Amino acid sequence: MGSDGPRDPREVVDLTSREELQSVVEFLAHDLLEGRAPGTRGGRLSELYMQSLFKLLGLRPGIDGGYLQPFRMKGYTTRHVAVGVPGLELRSPDDVMGVQARDEPSLDVEAEAVFVGFGIRTPLFGWDDFKGHDVRGKVLIVRANDPGHCDPSLFEGASVTYFGRWSYKIEEARRAGARAILIVHTDESAGYDWGVVERSWGRENVFLPSSLENDLEFQGWIREESLRRLLATKGLSLDDVYRDTLKETFEPVPLGMSIRITGENEFRTVEAANVVAEISGRSERRIVLSAHIDHIGHQPDQPGDNVFNGAIDNGSAVAAMVLAAKALNAFREELPYTITLLACTAEEGGLLGSYHYVRNTDRSSILANVNFESTPVWERSRSVMGVGAHYSTLEGHLKEIAAEEGLLYSEFSRTDQGFFYRSDQFPFARYGIPAVWISAGEDFESGQDHFGEFLRNTYHTVRDDFDPGWELEALRQTVRSAVMLVERIGRSPEPPRWKARLTFPSEAREPG
Ligand SMILES: [Zn+2]
Repeated sequence: MGSDGPRDPREVVDLTSREELQSVVEFLAHDLLEGRAPGTRGGRLSELYMQSLFKLLGLRPGIDGGYLQPFRMKGYTTRHVAVGVPGLELRSPDDVMGVQARDEPSLDVEAEAVFVGFGIRTPLFGWDDFKGHDVRGKVLIVRANDPGHCDPSLFEGASVTYFGRWSYKIEEARRAGARAILIVHTDESAGYDWGVVERSWGRENVFLPSSLENDLEFQGWIREESLRRLLATKGLSLDDVYRDTLKETFEPVPLGMSIRITGENEFRTVEAANVVAEISGRSERRIVLSAHIDHIGHQPDQPGDNVFNGAIDNGSAVAAMVLAAKALNAFREELPYTITLLACTAEEGGLLGSYHYVRNTDRSSILANVNFESTPVWERSRSVMGVGAHYSTLEGHLKEIAAEEGLLYSEFSRTDQGFFYRSDQFPFARYGIPAVWISAGEDFESGQDHFGEFLRNTYHTVRDDFDPGWELEALRQTVRSAVMLVERIGRSPEPPRWKARLTFPSEAREPG
């Protein structure tokens, strides 16, 4: 750097032009990328684009001597799902939605139904809905969310734990050896309406092969009103079945009925790649910066705008990660730790790319994960936000950064939405690595509720488009905080560690 060049990574961020700030998101959100679904032409193009950007920035290959970490997934699309008992047939998309994760053209499962409350079994909250009952080979019916949703004295109250997420319920049902699961949907307990279930479960669902080894034959949702009708065929009421679900003494309720689940199924192999680069520091120990490059694709058979461009989810976050890489690389001689840049894929399919990375890397070398997700593109915010920071000593670093920047420190106000479990920081956290989703906070200088508006109107719709009118100052601010966090971790005498009770089950084992 010349004498009048930037003096530290923060200045690189400050001096970056608006044109450069918008370039990455503008490209990734283009219609020609077709919504960047993994295993599609647009998905592949986004991988090649990231590889080129990393090379252009002068970053080193980050995985097995290359930039690409290809892996295989299986994709399943299940249509015309029907759930039948004598005298009643419930159908998709009005009553039920779900997917058969099996390489079979038709779905036909018949088994005894058991209601298992919230389907939760964990020592973390001293809770066991199974009580040793043998549910192998059964169809489990479980309530969405966790008991804290109904009783604020239980679990974490209105803040949802991972035990309230549908993905956890599927994991637990697998461990219990069940054959199928139906999660009971209400708008309040799921946190979103049936239309969201319909859209996301009606399209292709992707899985890592490892998670299929002992998988359920069918996983899906049933509307609470439809469950009411199902129970009525046996003279049961929903209230009877739900009665003890908020008690630790709850016992599974066999429903005395056999349920038959049928449908038509398509399957294929999906190949995609994470794109990984690194900036070598003085030590092999590393901090992983991540952002997912995939989004949910397009619907060529729909008239009008049919591309889910994913400009904010997650083009802006990729732009933030790239700018952080550029700023840190300009001062690489000063980095005590190596920085890994992980542009991961298949996040929208269930964080599959980041799980694949975390499971297939030397985790003992990773000190922390700093993830970018749906990075705000608007004017500056009055705060710095660290989703999940409170679990670890990363929170202290972020509070100091906020103070130094003259900002407030905040967590996402929407704790009922479980965002910590819904982006790529989560696989790192589950494998024992302190992790945070870093962002400018929700209190924007204009007073506008930009995040709320995004979640209500734009999130996972075809309206998530690039807008040349964005200020992008909150994006710049996010990157400034991220490079400051990397510096602080580097300066700190002790590496990041957990400090609070975790609200999710750990997968941490000795690596290797
Ligand atoms: Zn998304």
